[in-house]
Amino acid sequence: MAKLNLDGKEIKPLKICVIGDGDFIGACLCEKIIYDSPHQVTLMDESHKIKHLFGGNAARIDRFSYLNIDVPADVARLQPVLDAADILINIPAVCLPADYSTRTFDTIKSNFLDVVPLIEYCSEKNKRLIHLSSSEVYGKTTAGYLLKDDPLRKDPKFYVLKEDESPCILGSIDKRRWSYACAQQLTERLISAEGDEHGLEYTIVRAFNWVGPRMDFIPGVDGPCNGVPTVLTSFSNSLLRREPLKLVDGGYYLRTFCFIEDAMVALLLMIDNPERANGQIFNVGNPNTEISIKELANLMIRVHAKFNREPRSNYSTVAVSSEVFYGKGYDDCDRRIPDMTIINRQLGKY
Ligand code: UDP
Repeated sequence: MAKLNLDGKEIKPLKICVIGDGDFIGACLCEKIIYDSPHQVTLMDESHKIKHLFGGNAARIDRFSYLNIDVPADVARLQPVLDAADILINIPAVCLPADYSTRTFDTIKSNFLDVVPLIEYCSEKNKRLIHLSSSEVYGKTTAGYLLKDDPLRKDPKFYVLKEDESPCILGSIDKRRWSYACAQQLTERLISAEGDEHGLEYTIVRAFNWVGPRMDFIPGVDGPCNGVPTVLTSFSNSLLRREPLKLVDGGYYLRTFCFIEDAMVALLLMIDNPERANGQIFNVGNPNTEISIKELANLMIRVHAKFNREPRSNYSTVAVSSEVFYGKGYDDCDRRIPDMTIINRQLGKY
């Protein structure tokens, strides 16, 4: 029986082209499309985590193809796939906070300059574009600038992040951490303007700390020895090596985390419901999981020790300064709670 979308319309098979980060989000998205939709998908990236997609049911494999391609450089190989696609999904390739202040040029190039031709292409050829941006564009909350004892700090208006209301507050230029947020913000502004001025059909997705299997890398095992992955992987790495978990500047900042499968359900809803998703910017996160980084470290220690049947005291945390951990130019987002009104209104409570 044909699958129907949220408005009861039949979901017709589409050709989808996924560009960038095939290791985590791209791999999970291809998997979701292959298993839960009738669509065809081509992934373009140098991915190491998609081998399993080539196994199993032949009909599913037919709907998946993979091109190991350097997207901005290899336009000749890219062009035919783009021309055949109904939807382009762009996923950021440089998106680790440790890179923002040490590989600033690459960060801005990959998240803005390399995306510009894709935006132009989609606009000219009337292709639908789904662009993965990040909660990072919000920068710091307005509550973070209030005095410590100001009662307004407790007012959600000052810290819950809303797509069409919250300002995007980034630090000074020497705080190079904000290069990613700034590049993504410019990309979002360009996409939204192309939508208004030239009818580009777009959806922008702001990812709030998506986590799950295959994310990032364990330094020296499946990534560079001196690389710094995001916090969950960084803490897992320390637990595996039996080293103290490092709390940057004491670990007082807060985050919410969203399981990757929930995020993939949301992305598939966007693909299948263009009338509800076009022209929208969506927060995709889980507002009910807020935790400080220090609490997260203690929780991970508790779970890991229990799993290994060891006393909790075998593991510890240590505070490190952000300058020592990330180098000069690091700055931090104080809090990240997504407002989910728009996505719930447009795509139903998922
Ligand atoms: N962090 C930490 N120890 C680590 C890695 C990260 O204390 O080993 C902190 C980091 O400074 C930030 C938070 O954890 O406050 C989340 O960092 P992550 O790299 O996961 O990404 P972000 O949410 O900042 O984009």
